[in-house]
Amino acid sequence: MSRKWNEYNFGALENSSTYEPTRCAECHRVIRLGYEGHTIKDGDYFCMDCADFPGALFG
Ligand SMILES: [Zn+2]
Repeated sequence: MSRKWNEYNFGALENSSTYEPTRCAECHRVIRLGYEGHTIKDGDYFCMDCADFPGALFG
């Protein structure tokens, strides 16, 4: 997973044919990084609705 993430970093979204969308680890909703607020905890992404833990960072 980490290798794939390095290849498909935030600057590679235009080559989206094989890009697998990031999903919230809690509700599995697709998170459009860069467009929607989200946060990361322990390597997992969470949408705004699920990011209710202390110290959450948005954007
Ligand atoms: Zn969620």
